[in-house]
Amino acid sequence: MEFTSADLKNYFDEVIEMIEEEKDYLCELDRKLGDGDHGVTMSIGWQAAKEMIDGDLKDEDDCGKISMIVGKTFLNAVGSSVGPLYATGLMRGAKTVKKKTVLNDDDLAEYWLAFVNGVQERGQAKAGDKTMMDTLEPFGEAFQVKFESANEFIPAFDHALGFARKGMESTKEMISQKGRSSRLGERSVGFQDPGATSAYLMLLTFLAYVKN
Ligand code: ADP
Ligand code: MG
Ligand code: MG
Repeated sequence: MEFTSADLKNYFDEVIEMIEEEKDYLCELDRKLGDGDHGVTMSIGWQAAKEMIDGDLKDEDDCGKISMIVGKTFLNAVGSSVGPLYATGLMRGAKTVKKKTVLNDDDLAEYWLAFVNGVQERGQAKAGDKTMMDTLEPFGEAFQVKFESANEFIPAFDHALGFARKGMESTKEMISQKGRSSRLGERSVGFQDPGATSAYLMLLTFLAYVKN
């Protein structure tokens, strides 16, 4: 497939819209496990990114620069744990598509794998810790295996999204080991992790975008 810098900005616009729609839901999840602000922090970060996309990035066609600046903007705007986590994902992805105005299947695969690895390295969480890595780790693993065997981006991403969803849902039964919710210990069982949920929604939004 062919994914242009305009597509990348359109995708980010759809994430921004999605976050506004899911803001209350993400806060509600975080009220059970943390300080209730996850929807608000995501909204603050993505609204700052929107200003950039509509302003300084309006005529930018380097996918690397776009993702780098969106990541940096997100980082500067967000004070909570997810600030550096998503920002690192966006900035690591950016490095893989530096100076490219059009991305092919291989570029997109590299971008998303770098995104997942960036969040992992930054947060040092693994599947089972009840964080966004419960979505991203199984997603990345399933995507990589499928993409290496078939070399087609959309079917591999679609396939991996099923694993991301299962991973997100599995956080309900987990005892949190990382971040604010880890203070709850066993009382964290029974609630789905907000970050695992926002990570799933970002991936879902990407699939919906590239399929249309
Ligand atoms: P805060 O806890 O600072 O209020 P948010 O509410 O915005 O931050 O985000 C909470 C989410 O951050 C959690 O649901 C979890 O998924 C994610 N998170 C926290 N620590 C880590 C980590 N070390 N690695 C990956 N994700 C993490
Ligand atoms: Mg919070
Ligand atoms: Mg907070």
